[in-house]
Amino acid sequence: MDCFRRRVMLSLTAAMLAGCTTATSPRAPARRRNSAGAGTDTATVANPAFDEWLTAFRARAAAHGIGADTLGAAFRGAGYLPVVIERDQNQFQYRRTVEDYIAIATSQERLATGRAMLQLHAKTLAAIEARFGVAPHVVAAIWGVESRYGERRGEFPVISALATLGFASRRAGFFESQLLAALRILQRGDISARKMTGSWAGAMGHTQFIPTTYESFAVDFDGDGRRDIWADDPTDALASAAAYIKRSGWQSGRLWGVEVMLPQGFNTALAGRGTARSIADWAALGARAAHGALPDHGPASLVLPGDGTGPAFLAFRNFTVLTRYNNSDKYVIAVGHLSDRLRGGPALRGGFAPDASGMTLTDRKALQRKLTAAGFDTGSIDGVIGSKTHEAIRAYQARHGLQVTGEPSLALLRRLG
Ligand code: CA
Repeated sequence: MDCFRRRVMLSLTAAMLAGCTTATSPRAPARRRNSAGAGTDTATVANPAFDEWLTAFRARAAAHGIGADTLGAAFRGAGYLPVVIERDQNQFQYRRTVEDYIAIATSQERLATGRAMLQLHAKTLAAIEARFGVAPHVVAAIWGVESRYGERRGEFPVISALATLGFASRRAGFFESQLLAALRILQRGDISARKMTGSWAGAMGHTQFIPTTYESFAVDFDGDGRRDIWADDPTDALASAAAYIKRSGWQSGRLWGVEVMLPQGFNTALAGRGTARSIADWAALGARAAHGALPDHGPASLVLPGDGTGPAFLAFRNFTVLTRYNNSDKYVIAVGHLSDRLRGGPALRGGFAPDASGMTLTDRKALQRKLTAAGFDTGSIDGVIGSKTHEAIRAYQARHGLQVTGEPSLALLRRLG
């Protein structure tokens, strides 16, 4: 899923909840107006209060220099999108752990696709590295985490999505600024309103740029005069991601971080961003690389995801750079570790403690495998308990006369044999 999109979502959770309240108030839509053509998910609905807001917004946009032609084209067929609000609620239901993040980012499928993409786009990625100094496996890892290598670029009409958020969110000012940026992009001619699609939160294209980030960092790398991060051809999008992290201070040829093993009784109070020490200091404190020798790529902070129960990492300057893309440790670790794997590096050595249901990753995979074998499809065997696994558990429990909770447990695993 998700970079900017995730950052936007994280920072806007409260706002989106407020938006939900609005959506279920008397201002809620009365009837379906049209479908944007990408399925019912992107159907807009009539909403007089939204229309009123839009009229006022259009006047503000005109005052900001958006021309009548651009406004006309942008809002032709645009409307209120209640599903944008629903998506945010789902975000809470299925909040993923760092272990889930890593498991998803480096699943066998994601690794295989990534290696294939590195080959397919080798020439482009080499040219991008020559221009921006960001290595192919790093660019590919961002691409893989953001959109599954372009497979999930988002099908929401961005103008409608941002207008809905600008109307219904407590952070209307932020979304209105994104909507204005989107209109400037349209006015510049980089993309048509119809083709400007993205996530429900307005993150666009292969590398999920929000409009203001696009304005600041997107580049035209194939030389056709347009900065196209939406097209099937990922050239501009991949170069734009590299341009973004290069301009955020990426240090060429240096690692993002490295997994380390800590001695028993290690003082975990030394962990946390902003507590950088030299590699020599960390070595003196007993830190060892999980694989090989401890690399020295400058001062490093100790990052302990999963409340210190999981693997440990020393984070170099490039870790901080990746937080500019998405200010979340689990995001950066997922991208960083995927980049290491795509470069041929090993899997993580450190494991995570059992989750809230007392299950380890191995237990959860076994549960998924046994449910699927018993005819209750969990979608995939990745150890990540998502909506399909919950559904499979509910179906199994209902079939066998058990209390229907949909929750994984060791008792259920034992029952499956
Ligand atoms: Ca271009």
